[in-house]
Amino acid sequence: STSMASEKEAALAATPSDSDSPTIFDKIINKEIPSTVVYEDDKVLAFRDISPQAPVHILIIPKVRDGLTGISKAEERHFEILGRLLYTAKLVAKQEGLDDGYRVVINDGPKGCQSVYHIHVHLLGGRQMNWPPG
Ligand code: C5P
Repeated sequence: STSMASEKEAALAATPSDSDSPTIFDKIINKEIPSTVVYEDDKVLAFRDISPQAPVHILIIPKVRDGLTGISKAEERHFEILGRLLYTAKLVAKQEGLDDGYRVVINDGPKGCQSVYHIHVHLLGGRQMNWPPG
């Protein structure tokens, strides 16, 4: 949650063993909690991160999780949605005017700082990114 001291604490507090349970993203998909949607189609939703780490910080998620709690759980049946998530990142980057570059990230598991167990692609831009990431 936003009251967490840091994204890392949120990630370490999240329990991958709860990965069959609904997440906050289900409520965002169902519009039970508000979000700023920047792109939507029948398969994916893209909305602004509530705690932006760059001037542009957007999350791209599948509307149906289908066991894809994180990239580490990917199976062959997910090939199409995985492609759609990345292609949507490209579409939204263009829509946001990120013509000089941007960053696409998938965090996985506690050591990857994942805090929500519904796969999501981070699109970050609008500033100079650094390498290596923290
Ligand atoms: O990769 P990770 O799992 O850490 O990313 C989850 C992201 O979801 C965070 O960047 C967090 O700010 C965002 N979030 C959100 N709205 C919520 C809960 C989390 O945008 N209600």
